[in-house]
Amino acid sequence: MTTSVRWAEDGRETLAAIGLAPATGAAPATIPDPATGARLSISGVDAGCATCPSCEARSEKAAFVAVVEDLRLLFACPSCLRLIWLPGA
Ligand SMILES: [Zn+2]
Repeated sequence: MTTSVRWAEDGRETLAAIGLAPATGAAPATIPDPATGARLSISGVDAGCATCPSCEARSEKAAFVAVVEDLRLLFACPSCLRLIWLPGA
C-alpha cells in the first residue's frame, strides 16, 4: 500500500519516542485521539522548533500532526512525551 501522507523525519522520531510510530518501516496511517482514543487519519506530519503547551519545554523536534477528521493539529512533545491537541487556528 502506498501513502501520500508526508512525514517529516524529525516528527516521526518524536512520535516513535512516544510509541505512536515505528522508528523504521511504514509510517502509520492513523493516530489515536488523545482525548477519546478514536483512530484519526493522518494527513501530514511536520516537525519544528516549538514550545510545548503542556510542559513548556522548548524543543527542536516538536511534531505537528494534521488529521483528516479535525481542523486542529496534534502536538507531540519529545520532552514530556505527550500528544495533545493544539487550539484551532
Ligand atoms: Zn511537553
